[in-house]
Amino acid sequence: MTASDLEGPTPDDPHTLAEIERAIASGVYTLRFNRALERRYQADTLKSRLRFITVVGIGGALVYNLFLISDWLTLNDVFGYVAAGRLLLITPLFIALLVLCQRFNQRWAVETAAACGTVASSLMPLVVMIYSHSPYRLHYQLGMLLIMVYCTMIQQLPTRLASVAMLCMLMIQLITTYLADFLDFRIWQANALLFMSTVALLLMASYFQERSSRLSYLFALRGKLLRLQLLKIARTDALTQLHNRRYQGEVMAAVWHKAAATPVSVAVILLDIDHFKAYNDNYGHLQGDTCLERVSQAVQQAAQAHNALAFRFGGEELLVLQVEADIGQARALGEALRRAIAALAIPHPVLGEGARVTVSLGIATAMAPHTGVDTLIAEADGALYDAKHAGRDCLRCAQALASSPLPS
Ligand code: GH3
Ligand code: MG
Ligand code: MG
Repeated sequence: MTASDLEGPTPDDPHTLAEIERAIASGVYTLRFNRALERRYQADTLKSRLRFITVVGIGGALVYNLFLISDWLTLNDVFGYVAAGRLLLITPLFIALLVLCQRFNQRWAVETAAACGTVASSLMPLVVMIYSHSPYRLHYQLGMLLIMVYCTMIQQLPTRLASVAMLCMLMIQLITTYLADFLDFRIWQANALLFMSTVALLLMASYFQERSSRLSYLFALRGKLLRLQLLKIARTDALTQLHNRRYQGEVMAAVWHKAAATPVSVAVILLDIDHFKAYNDNYGHLQGDTCLERVSQAVQQAAQAHNALAFRFGGEELLVLQVEADIGQARALGEALRRAIAALAIPHPVLGEGARVTVSLGIATAMAPHTGVDTLIAEADGALYDAKHAGRDCLRCAQALASSPLPS
């Protein structure tokens, strides 16, 4: 169990709330975020898009093959070819693309594969239609409208990609109906206009849909960042930027909870600045605050280097928690803390010429959960008291509690 294990979800995030707010305020009219946010959006939405594309892909393939009935009714002179195309060419291609998609780890690759499947499925029946002499061909080719709806409204391909796919399908539709030569030119023109309008309207809908899903993503991300920020504020002491007493309670409760399954040795170091009242009285509380901040930062760094967590216990007292540590390791950390404060060399001249700010430390170790949290802290407090009595600027260790099973 390391310090980072204990810390739980990290409140640090590469994107700031201000950046997300800016993106929301921009309205996302371009359907693009800045480069880093765009990369994050693509990565965060990959899994859900893959699941979605797979589900609608299976549904789409079933409906696609249902149109064998329509092939039979309206195009039965070339039914064998259309059926073979649907069942032996397009459906296997569709399935192969869906399987391939599961291996992609880039969202654009998934979307492109989905678009290719849809365009391919629109190509085959219309090409076959050219060779039919059925009088119903005019109605048959309207099926393309459904594929266009599927591409934009069901698959919900990103608008840029949907535009390319829709233009391909429009071309297929215009060329095949022209080549089929079953309409007089006036009807072909009216038909073309119907399809062009459909493409334009569906792309408008696709635009609004993508814009709102991008905005939803931003709102969700903002919620997540706000939660992390709140968590950070709730856990952090405003002056020292160390973890606060509330979070100390949470972490220690979590350690003891885990230790119920597997007992673990825990060390607590209580650190108190020597003669701090005199420091405040002589140099003012603001300078006292600055001194406390500097001491806290030094403690934080030394604790981190020893895989321990530092908390502001109260006033000018700090608590350092080290898990899976024996008395030897705790003593080494205590010494490192004392030396780190000494290295700051903060003058405290009221104590005498050349005097520096020093700290006293009390150390206690025990096995959790046999020894309770309060007992362990009380032992460390007793050791701190001993250090003060021994003349300060030193550390003292409590009698080992490791083998004494006390109720918490
Ligand atoms: P000792 O060596 O026995 O620990 O002496 P001390 O003067 O440090 O101990 P005492 O408990 O008498 O005084 C602690 C002082 O710490 C009193 C209080 O004003 C100061 N203090 C506590 N919290 C803060 C703070 O946030 N900022 C400042 N500037 N001072 C603080
Ligand atoms: Mg004190
Ligand atoms: Mg003190």
